[in-house]
Amino acid sequence: MSDSSGGRTGPFLQEADRYSAHNYKPLPVVLDRGEGVWVWDVDGRRYLDMLAAYSALNQGHLHPTIINAAREQMERLTLTSRAFHNDQMGPFLRELCDAMGYEKALPMNTGAEAVETAIKLVRKWGYEVKGVPDGKAEIIVCDGNFHGRTTTIVGFSSEEEYREGFGPFTPGFRRVPYGDVEAFREAVSPNTVGFLMEPIQGEGGVVVPPEGYLRETREICSEHDVPFIADEIQTGLGRTGRLLCSQWEEVRPDVVLLGKALGGGVYPVSAVLADDEYMQVFRPGDHGSTFGGNPLGAAVGRAALQVVLDEDLSGRAAELGNWLMDELRGMKSPHVDHVRGKGLMVGVVIRESSGPARPFCEALRDRGILAKETHRQVIRFAPPLVVEKSTLEEALPDIAAVLSA
Ligand SMILES: *Cc1c(COP(=O)(O)O)cnc(C)c1O
Repeated sequence: MSDSSGGRTGPFLQEADRYSAHNYKPLPVVLDRGEGVWVWDVDGRRYLDMLAAYSALNQGHLHPTIINAAREQMERLTLTSRAFHNDQMGPFLRELCDAMGYEKALPMNTGAEAVETAIKLVRKWGYEVKGVPDGKAEIIVCDGNFHGRTTTIVGFSSEEEYREGFGPFTPGFRRVPYGDVEAFREAVSPNTVGFLMEPIQGEGGVVVPPEGYLRETREICSEHDVPFIADEIQTGLGRTGRLLCSQWEEVRPDVVLLGKALGGGVYPVSAVLADDEYMQVFRPGDHGSTFGGNPLGAAVGRAALQVVLDEDLSGRAAELGNWLMDELRGMKSPHVDHVRGKGLMVGVVIRESSGPARPFCEALRDRGILAKETHRQVIRFAPPLVVEKSTLEEALPDIAAVLSA
């Protein structure tokens, strides 16, 4: 591990290197404090957080509303299990259903658990309601997808790196090219019980599908009685300039998956939203989670949602995102192939001839900006949605310098 910075960073890097499984390759920066869009390292250097924990920090670090809700709840009741009721889960799910326009919600913890829940939900719906023969249910997914890291989920990934060495995998998935309406239409069969998709592929490299893709695949789903499942774990809760990214094409998914920012940067909270038609297939004993719906997570989720709505984070993302993308395009960097995204989910695609995106992220780090490469060639800029325009304006010269070096 290299540490050019001296100071206290080195020993932390060595310790993590020694004791942590090497399943990540983090930038060599060790953080010990955060507030809003800022984080500080153990030597007191300040950085602008342009990753926001992969959009789990839409509300920023230590948002007072969320921290207060967590603190109050922590001093009252934190965990009941679902063997008993608690006074936070019901209000949380009601507020979530009201905001998103669904009849029911099922609370889990991580994003991957929400995805697994949706897979179980639509499979059971397929057998009980659609009449698919037992064991024949098929879910269509997209090339380049990222839905989490469980064995079932990596089993239908198109990334060799995510899959290799982890088989055998769960059957019942069929992959189609992302953004290709006709390929999807051809893949639908009488046994299709779901189309699981991301409205923008985040980990896939901030890949925005062609205009109309969501609407047209949604229509095909309706024609063939196939539930349209939008994984909005990264795109949801304001990130792309709408509460849900699906709303850009006025699409109402049958099943919506939320996570990441639903936990307000504090606590893992995820949820599956759907109407009764689907949700009624779950009966006592079918599915569960020890921590899902716990009062601490529910209180945090309520505050996290409230901040997204009260501070109009969607509106901020829409306005700042368009402006930021224009500024980045205006830099006319010789290394940049193109800039893409929606709202404050922005990908800067580095030309193959300029090498991978990683050294650009390291150079940004040296200038006090934390961003992370995704998919080798893409720098993702996705700051907390509470970011001020002036803060981004101040960062632009540093970004320009790094992109033109
Ligand atoms: C992050 C992510 C997940 C997985 O969430 P975890 O909380 O890491 O399990 C699933 N889907 C999408 C689109 C994501 O970005």
